[in-house]
Amino acid sequence: MTQAYAARRLEVNGIVQGVGFRPFVYNLANHFGLKGEVANTSTGVSIHIEGPLDRIQSFETDLATKCPPLAHIVEISTRSESVKQYAGFNIVKSRGRAAMSTLISPDVSICDDCLRELFDPKDRRYLYPFINCTNCGPRYTIIDDIPYDRPKTSMRHFKMCNACQSEYDDPTDRRFHAQPNACVECGPFVSLFDRREKPIDAGDPVKKAADLLRRGYIVAIKGLGGFHLAADAENSAAVIRLRNRKMRQEKPFAIISADLAGIRKYAGVEPEEEKLLTSIQRPIVLLKKKTANCIAEEVAPRNKYFGVMLPCTPLHYLLLKHGFNALVMTSANLSEEPIAIDNDDAFERLGDIADYFLIHNRDIYLRSDDSIVKHTAGHTRPIRRSRGFVPIPVFLNDPVPPILACGAELKNTICITTGDKAFISQHIGDLENKATLDFFKLTVAHLQRILAITPEIIAFDMHPDYLSTVHAKEQQGIRKVEVQHHHAHIVSCMAEHKLEGEVIGLAFDGTGYGTDGTLWGGEVLVAEAKQFKRVAHLAYVPMPGSAAAIKEPWRMAISYLQDAFGENFWDLDLPVLTRIEPPKLKIIVEMILKGVNSPQTSSLGRLFDGVAAIIGIRQQVNFEGQAALELEMLAADDADSIYDFEWVTGDMFKILPAPIIRGVVTDVQNGLPVAEIGAKFHKTIVALFAEVCASVRNESELNRVVLSGGCFQNSILLAGLIQKLESLNFQVFAHRQIPTNDGGISLGQAVVAAAVSRR
Ligand code: ZN
Ligand code: ZN
Ligand code: FE
Repeated sequence: MTQAYAARRLEVNGIVQGVGFRPFVYNLANHFGLKGEVANTSTGVSIHIEGPLDRIQSFETDLATKCPPLAHIVEISTRSESVKQYAGFNIVKSRGRAAMSTLISPDVSICDDCLRELFDPKDRRYLYPFINCTNCGPRYTIIDDIPYDRPKTSMRHFKMCNACQSEYDDPTDRRFHAQPNACVECGPFVSLFDRREKPIDAGDPVKKAADLLRRGYIVAIKGLGGFHLAADAENSAAVIRLRNRKMRQEKPFAIISADLAGIRKYAGVEPEEEKLLTSIQRPIVLLKKKTANCIAEEVAPRNKYFGVMLPCTPLHYLLLKHGFNALVMTSANLSEEPIAIDNDDAFERLGDIADYFLIHNRDIYLRSDDSIVKHTAGHTRPIRRSRGFVPIPVFLNDPVPPILACGAELKNTICITTGDKAFISQHIGDLENKATLDFFKLTVAHLQRILAITPEIIAFDMHPDYLSTVHAKEQQGIRKVEVQHHHAHIVSCMAEHKLEGEVIGLAFDGTGYGTDGTLWGGEVLVAEAKQFKRVAHLAYVPMPGSAAAIKEPWRMAISYLQDAFGENFWDLDLPVLTRIEPPKLKIIVEMILKGVNSPQTSSLGRLFDGVAAIIGIRQQVNFEGQAALELEMLAADDADSIYDFEWVTGDMFKILPAPIIRGVVTDVQNGLPVAEIGAKFHKTIVALFAEVCASVRNESELNRVVLSGGCFQNSILLAGLIQKLESLNFQVFAHRQIPTNDGGISLGQAVVAAAVSRR
């Protein structure tokens, strides 16, 4: 019996251009002996396919399930067409602006095929640091404009040799239309310099750089999304030198190893973590340290985790094959400035940090830091969503107008929407200096250009002093929507999970500007996209010295002690008090009592800081959230009991920190180990907010709880609350696609602005 002969039209939507999709379709059609054609369109790829029906069905299955690694199919629509009696299967040229509104792929790691060729002495790209194909290599960071074609990328300066060109032109080749295609004959190359820009004469600059690293030197290395600073991770002296020169005292450094076996020497790797490490995004994955390990203590002091990645570029593979267990591979910048991407800029800004520079002549147009993820509480949680993930959009429930959301201040990202897609930018950084503000503006302009979006609405944080807010307010002729910080947090998580209607939102972080002008951060909201109601919060305490109280948690300790004990706190026998000079202590108390430079805060992050200082683990911090992080790191796995807590009811619940603080002080005075106090404190916060949620449910009948804000980077808090709330039959939602910290705020702002504009 002969099969029915049929024809179909398939429209494929998503990231399907510049990722080897058409050759894949071509090969698939030939594999099944089908006829027809494939072309790029303005929304993706259009396929006409004809032949026996059963084979068409197999083709359709494979199309959806076996597509190239960089392709990201959003939707395939299918309809019947009349048979046109094609002679074969062809790739046909796209017309005009066909590629203009399609999605661009992120930069991803070298693929297995290219890796094999890289180390194959018979291959013409043997040891060539810029080997790539349609399935791998740079994309987002080398694009200047659309359509994504070589002349619009930083590869335009390199004319392909005949061998490369014929690969590029051959639809059956892995390098068909691979825009960064290159070889040693025609492509970019690597060179080595000293810090005074003097070239180092070395037959193999990569090998020479490896020698220098082994001798303890610091080498700046140009990677995919920017420069890294590298040092031998087993060499304490080198790591300390890097810390001193970079002026980064204790914040953990990321490390890189050649393979999983190398990583297992110093860190535990669970199956989910192995998947993350080897994924094409190659993020930094937080892995539990092994107790005895070869890595210098200074790499991640007082932390249970190492941030570890596998190489994502051929250059990193080549470097690591010279036999390191691990190299520190940290963003090349001075403290919190944007990472260097340009060779001249690198020499200028990093000349006092790096001893040598391993650079190349393929320009990076848009910097993109390494992404950071952690597998915790059953899922992968992004901490920084950047290289490898951007610019894949978050897909929204409903189409929204074109919106630019400017993000928050710290860990800034921006978000641009069109239709049902929200594009969150790469990590921009802390908007506290001009260099980062410039990068913010550049990213806004760049994303608008490559996505061809002109925003009609601009959304921004309520904090009048955020540079992102100031920038937004300066814009003319565009509708402006101000969004409260914690509302944006909750809605960002709702958008990720496509939640509609009202939810109970727990927004816990360090700081966010409240509608009453105070600094919020321990907030329980009843929220939906267009509005929210604050139903509970930590009671206010003063932050003596304002921003100084963030850098010096002992100030918060004084504030909480004063709140809990009144003036009697002077008499307490606590190490935190004896460490502070009496005149200084007196000034702080005066500030608190008179309200001088002491804004009110309901922040949970500050409560963590205060408790960390009271139990004596940290008086001052070197980076944001350090005290809270160390409190988490040293806390025991579980506690037998919890501290008393209470709240006062009224138009909203005010949760009193005082009983908790009094409990902590009693335990300190009784000599309870800090690990146990830490565990007890975490467990108290979990029990307390679970009980608050239950009370809110009684009144509102809401059963969905959404968790967002920087405090949920704390795994004990996140896992504890999820477990406790689920045991009370709540449906709980936490972040899985975007960061829970302020890096996710821009998405929430955009969705709030869309809802407000719909009203
Ligand atoms: Zn490849
Ligand atoms: Zn070539
Ligand atoms: Fe926040």
